[in-house]
Amino acid sequence: MSKLNKEWHAAHPMDKNPTTEERLTWHLEHTAHCGCRPIPASLLSIMAQRGIAVPERGRAEQAVDQTAE
Ligand SMILES: [Zn+2]
Repeated sequence: MSKLNKEWHAAHPMDKNPTTEERLTWHLEHTAHCGCRPIPASLLSIMAQRGIAVPERGRAEQAVDQTAE
């Protein structure tokens, strides 16, 4: 089973020049549906400032699993 949720990605392309808000929304949604990559540290700190709960999967900074496609 692949960790990359291809259907979700096809339905949710990331904008070429996303705003911070768009990136926040995208990553929160992404983490809920797909675990192919963790939320970037820059977004994690914004979420912390705003008191947004970081989903369990989004915390995978120390991700064990670096399996390439
Ligand atoms: Zn993904």
